[in-house]
Amino acid sequence: KIILALETSCDETSAAVLKNGNIVLSNIISSQIPVHQKFGGVVPEIASRKHVEIINGVIAEALEKAGITFRDIDAVAVTYGPGLVGALLVGVTAAKAVAYALNVPLIGVNHIEGHIYANFLVEPGLSFPFLCLVVSGGHTELVLLKDHGVYEVIGRTRDDAAGEAFDKVARALGLGYPGGPLIDKLAAAGNPAAVEFPRAYLENYDFSFSGLKSSVLNYLNRAAQKGEKINKADLAASFQRAVTDVLIDKTVMAARELGVKTVVMAGGVAANKQLREGLKKRLQEQGISFFQPPIELCTDNAAMIGCAGYYKLLRQQIAPLTLNAVPGLKLGRETY
Ligand code: ATP
Ligand code: MG
Ligand code: FE
Repeated sequence: KIILALETSCDETSAAVLKNGNIVLSNIISSQIPVHQKFGGVVPEIASRKHVEIINGVIAEALEKAGITFRDIDAVAVTYGPGLVGALLVGVTAAKAVAYALNVPLIGVNHIEGHIYANFLVEPGLSFPFLCLVVSGGHTELVLLKDHGVYEVIGRTRDDAAGEAFDKVARALGLGYPGGPLIDKLAAAGNPAAVEFPRAYLENYDFSFSGLKSSVLNYLNRAAQKGEKINKADLAASFQRAVTDVLIDKTVMAARELGVKTVVMAGGVAANKQLREGLKKRLQEQGISFFQPPIELCTDNAAMIGCAGYYKLLRQQIAPLTLNAVPGLKLGRETY
């Protein structure tokens, strides 16, 4: 089965071609980062317009790189939520047009489900149940996967997502956008024990990062008032350590308490070096197996959507051509 997958939920326009769900024939990702950089974040209206401008070219490139034509496509998968409504609509509309013209099934995929399924691209034999730490720009959740498409969210952030905290702190440090990769890089040269930032250990599996974020901002303001110079690398390293400590501790705790033997991670923040290495080490000590997608499959891409779409196709979860974008779509709650 050949699947064409599209992803336009935020600021990446991406098209991928997959064979039998796990073999990525092409995965074209056109990032709009330079377009939004001067605004310090994604401007929704500009994002939608950019998607419209380049989606056809990105699809053509994905087909060409995969060495196929439209006639070879057996199904079309597309992100239909969560995300920016205008951005999502571009992908959904393009996917509907292709599915209708070729008379092939249309599959609507939840973006977060896609992030999780990036793990099946690297580990097709992944067996249930497993726990997934979802850490992205808009989400921070611990999800228990019981079977394909069967999700139980056992913990979530009560305020900021981890990626959001990275982006806000990076902005305050004057590093630019998106902040995660910049802090990651800068932190490597800093001392994580330089500043003791608060870590929120809520009693259940929930997370909270707004207190940490405020604490970093207060620290910066105080330093500015006193005219003190700050060491940005130390600050980045200390902030990053505070975030990853909580994420790692909670994930290990949940895995042990639930008795799961396998843990994976997903989402843009899963590209973070400290988090990748730290979690791997701690889970190894516990004898729990751990998988992580390569960095390029952690951030937004259409290959992960195609993979999740393939398993929905196997379950015959075909969307009607009236499929609409659902900006607030929840994991495991299909709208069709
Ligand atoms: P969501 O997936 O929740 O809808 P999104 O699609 O905007 O949100 P992703 O593309 O999955 O988010 O991830 C982007 C986020 O990941 C940004 O917040 C970015 O700063 C963060 N990020 C990317 N690379 C790194 C890194 N190396 N370290 C920390 N954070 C990172
Ligand atoms: Mg993005
Ligand atoms: Fe994402």
